[in-house]
Amino acid sequence: MRLKDKVALVTGAASGIGKEIARTFAREGARVVIADLNLDAAEATARELNETAPLGAFGIAMDVADEAQVEAGMAKVVATAGHLDILVSNAGIQTIAPLDEFDFGKWKRLLAIHLDGAFLTTRAALRQMYRQGTGGSIIYMGSVHSKEASLLKAPYVTAKHGLIGLAKVVAKEGAKHGVRANVICPGFVRTPLVDKQIPEQAKELGISEDRVVKEIMLKDTVDGEFTTEQDVAEAALFFAGFESNALTGQSLVVSHG
Ligand code: NAD
Repeated sequence: MRLKDKVALVTGAASGIGKEIARTFAREGARVVIADLNLDAAEATARELNETAPLGAFGIAMDVADEAQVEAGMAKVVATAGHLDILVSNAGIQTIAPLDEFDFGKWKRLLAIHLDGAFLTTRAALRQMYRQGTGGSIIYMGSVHSKEASLLKAPYVTAKHGLIGLAKVVAKEGAKHGVRANVICPGFVRTPLVDKQIPEQAKELGISEDRVVKEIMLKDTVDGEFTTEQDVAEAALFFAGFESNALTGQSLVVSHG
């Protein structure tokens, strides 16, 4: 078991990619904290994990864009689990519209969840990891949109590029404390986040949903396949389990090429 006795906080872990990362970490011996907007959904996921890997997974309510909620959540993690070794900053949303029509409130909310959320959870995790003096791993959920742009996704592309910068700073500042930071950049994964945007994009672009999938989402892959939640979770496990500063400040694209 590669994460035996580690404590991992995964944000946005009641659904999709975060949930699969939580499942994978629990399988590898970690005590996982499921942080999500809705406490019931977080606790339901924790119960599900405890059925197969009874390591005391638990859920907490946390809006990652809210400073007080992040601080309270981190205090609960430390009070309950005693320490923190891994943060996966994964919570995210998608909102699509052309730039010239983009609503300012929606722009700010997306940036707040992806960037403020990454900052607030990082700051809380670093304070705890530095205090412990036992190092740690911080993993950001980037995207192929950390490296490339797409139509209709201005704040998402902006935020995902920004996470690479944040990870590089954490890598430099965290090095002397043994804290590493890396970014996973998945291609399209069939989660609720993607299922919602297929019809939205079809409508905006005036094409069929099938064309959105084949000609936009999977066009540049080597084999026309979606990336899976498990693919991304394996990459997260690799970063989480890599215990030296040799691998830090990096970003890894997991996207069928
Ligand atoms: P999802 O919609 O299945 O899950 C996202 C989770 O985040 C949900 O449980 C939601 O409740 C939670 N969340 C949303 N706002 C939150 C907030 N303010 N505070 C706490 N939790 C919040 O989506 P997913 O596809 O699993 O996406 C997870 C991450 O992966 C996101 O950062 C997304 O940008 C990224 N990503 C997804 C894909 C993809 O194709 N699905 C590709 C690349 C990157």
